[in-house]
Amino acid sequence: MSASAAPHVVVVGGGLAGLAAAVACVDGGAQVTLLESRPRLGGATWSFRRNGLSFDNGQHVHMRCCIAYRRFLERIGTAAHAPMQERLEIPVLRPTHGGGEPALSWIRRSGLPAPLHLGASLLAYGHLGIADRARLGRAALALRRLRLTDAALDTETFGAFLARHGQRPSAIAALWDLIALPTVNVRAKDASLALAAKVFKTGLLTEAGAADLGWSRVPLAQLHADPAEAVLRRAGATVRRSARVTVLRTTRDRATGAPSVTGVVVDGEPVDADAVVLAVPHEAAAQLLPAGGLHDPASLEGLGRSPIIDVHLVYDRRVVAHEVAAAVGSPVQFVFDTTESSGLDPADGQCVAVSVSGADDEHGERPDALIERYTHALAALFPAARGAKVVDAVVSREHAATFRGVPGTQRLRPRPASGIAGLYLAGAWTDTGWPATMEGAVRSGVAAAAGTLRFVGRERAVPRAAEMPEHAEEVVA
Ligand SMILES: Cc1cc2nc3c(=O)[nH]c(=O)nc-3n(C[C@H](O)[C@H](O)[C@H](O)COP(=O)(O)OP(=O)(O)OC[C@H]3O[C@@H](n4cnc5c(N)ncnc54)[C@H](O)[C@@H]3O)c2cc1C
Repeated sequence: MSASAAPHVVVVGGGLAGLAAAVACVDGGAQVTLLESRPRLGGATWSFRRNGLSFDNGQHVHMRCCIAYRRFLERIGTAAHAPMQERLEIPVLRPTHGGGEPALSWIRRSGLPAPLHLGASLLAYGHLGIADRARLGRAALALRRLRLTDAALDTETFGAFLARHGQRPSAIAALWDLIALPTVNVRAKDASLALAAKVFKTGLLTEAGAADLGWSRVPLAQLHADPAEAVLRRAGATVRRSARVTVLRTTRDRATGAPSVTGVVVDGEPVDADAVVLAVPHEAAAQLLPAGGLHDPASLEGLGRSPIIDVHLVYDRRVVAHEVAAAVGSPVQFVFDTTESSGLDPADGQCVAVSVSGADDEHGERPDALIERYTHALAALFPAARGAKVVDAVVSREHAATFRGVPGTQRLRPRPASGIAGLYLAGAWTDTGWPATMEGAVRSGVAAAAGTLRFVGRERAVPRAAEMPEHAEEVVA
């Protein structure tokens, strides 16, 4: 690299982590080449067309506290397509025996400061008995007192912690799992306390507005992949799809023996680089990392995987009156009205997506069995669905939607700097403090870009998000 030429940064992987890293690097004045093995960008957030409508591989939701993700949307010009709720508000339904009207309770915040903002709604939460409701505060206070930097949190399950603080299985199923499951992607009984505590402390117990929800009103490809690619191309970056990186090239300093990265091999062709951001899933990183990249790259396999399925149903009329609803006592966890993002004219019916996290038991099932189960489950929750016709249905499944957020994962998640000079790691699986989320992915990409920009001598261009505390620590007496 000459003193005046823009440094060349290769970003491997075009998911949210890679896109965020690439955008931060072009913003920092680097010449960027983004290499993605699939024919499309977006990674775990993608869309497909079917019978004239758009569907996403999985409903994606974020919270107001997902600051890095919101900044990324603003940077690529799409934040307005993923508006936030004014105030957290989730109707929670339970089907009644005999097929009557389902029971309805709400999780919603008031105008009070945290943690009082949820008090009124939880006191009135009818899916729990009075004794269980009375015990909620005990666990919430204990959660608030946890220190997120305490390594011991990753040695216990969230379920065990809740049980120690008076939460019975009924309360875990009807309340705690409503939040733990879609965020950590395993049930409380399996989830690492460290990851669950991050979600609850950051989202629900510290700032009143932190858990207000947002989600896309356009297909995910139009929210992330397409606009990010346009930003990159406008900035002069090279974006190559269907470009699989097979080797990370390194050299060793003659005097010290220290390794540094020199580029990659993509489809048999060498590409030189001053620095490389490796933003691929953890299993691919384990394969690609050269000796010295991590102490034990094979250990990344230990992060495991956890599936998510989505059952998309197109009805001939409007059947779900809410934009988002959760359910207890039903196979349905969350259901979203996706009519707008699908492109269906509301006069022609309604498109809904049932999102099933931690879908270990169901991801291997046949689509028609899943469609039948969830059509019945929705009819039990929404009386208007009982007389409606399902005009189309499709199941999307992601076997490796996220890493498996169980105890013991924290020590397997590396920081952005690898053991090889100029090689930085990104991905929702790296050490962001967050579970595998869009926020974690973007944070990791921005942090990797910050390291990269420093390495290539562009310290002054280090992005703001990289300066955010990675393990926000709030100590509440
Ligand atoms: C169905 C589903 C629902 C979800 N719901 C939510 C949600 O509601 N909220 C939320 O915050 N998060 C959610 N997530 C998680 C979130 O989508 C991910 O954590 C995030 O998108 C991961 O981004 P990433 O860039 O780290 O990884 P990825 O998106 O996996 O990107 C890695 C990229 O690297 C590419 N790659 C791999 N090997 C190579 C190679 N050798 N050469 C070049 N490229 C390569 C891959 O093709 C891929 O595009 C969900 C995930 C799924 C699947």
